[in-house]
Amino acid sequence: MAENQYDLMIVGTGPAGLTAAIYGQRLGMKAVVFGDIPGGNLYMIENLMNFPGFVGGIPGAQFGATAYTQAQGEGAFFPMARLERLTQNDSQFMGVDVNSQEYFAPTAIVACGVIPRSLDVPEADKKGIYFCSLCDGPPFRGKNATLAVIGGGSMAGQEALTLSKFADRIILIYRGEKLKMEAVMRKAVERKDGIDILLNTQVVGFQGEDQIDGIIVSTKEEENKIIPADGVFMAVGWGPNLEMLDIPAETTPEGFIKTNKKLMSSVPGLFAAGDVRDTDIRQVITACADGARAATYALQFLEKMNT
Ligand SMILES: Cc1cc2nc3c(=O)[nH]c(=O)nc-3n(C[C@H](O)[C@H](O)[C@H](O)COP(=O)(O)OP(=O)(O)OC[C@H]3O[C@@H](n4cnc5c(N)ncnc54)[C@H](O)[C@@H]3O)c2cc1C
Repeated sequence: MAENQYDLMIVGTGPAGLTAAIYGQRLGMKAVVFGDIPGGNLYMIENLMNFPGFVGGIPGAQFGATAYTQAQGEGAFFPMARLERLTQNDSQFMGVDVNSQEYFAPTAIVACGVIPRSLDVPEADKKGIYFCSLCDGPPFRGKNATLAVIGGGSMAGQEALTLSKFADRIILIYRGEKLKMEAVMRKAVERKDGIDILLNTQVVGFQGEDQIDGIIVSTKEEENKIIPADGVFMAVGWGPNLEMLDIPAETTPEGFIKTNKKLMSSVPGLFAAGDVRDTDIRQVITACADGARAATYALQFLEKMNT
């Protein structure tokens, strides 16, 4: 038996990966889980309000840390390293982590979530452009800052509301005619003092020397208008990053992994769970459900393989 041989290899320590680890271990599989953030994107959720069992909500970071401890307690192994490459050789998957350590397993679950998208406009990588209000908003507290949020969906609404705790003036910039966020969120944003909403406004670039100090926008009436801002928070969508996947699993045109009813990808033994999967709801509870199902179906696959 090869060194570092496991039954199940899991990529991602978010709710999908951690639940898969808990289920996998409890079903008798030996699991290795790659990732460097216990809880994955959960740390970005200030208060997780829509998960049953927590009246009044639970901070996402706390939920993530507890699930991580639980998975460790079940015996899953966490190298605390991201996976650099996942390949397949005969009936084994081989994972190489960032420390060049090799791991082997006959089944694998990709649960590596999604990453924020940016805008394809000049200077979109400038300092002062952020993707997480909870992570990068607090330093603006007490600085009389003007912060902008770009986007019109629920994520943009959440970012604007969170930032309103740190800055007196928030500008929500959206290219569409109407905000496309949930009704409850839209009302909360519209009612909040200090949030200005600019619709039909297209961001075409950013300006500033080392750090951005303005957003260049175009509207029907005016082109290349400058909106001064001390920081910009992008909320223009999320997509998968599957650079580490060196296996030709089928994906949607947007890059999400296609799965069958048993969450198996087009590659036998390779499963996908959570936000990275071609699914219509991307939430903590659906990620957990995916993790539970993927681990259970991975065991079925393993048992069939061994008969
Ligand atoms: C700001 C914000 C607020 C949200 N609010 C809510 C809410 O209130 N309620 C709710 O239900 N949902 C909410 N969500 C959505 C929820 O966070 C996601 O649906 C959920 O975290 C998806 O879980 P996941 O396990 O699929 O992926 P993730 O939580 O994204 O975890 C995947 C992990 O895998 C890691 N990873 C990526 N590539 C690799 C690699 N090569 N090797 C190892 N690890 C890798 C990533 O870094 C990440 O840590 C929110 C999301 C955001 C961003």
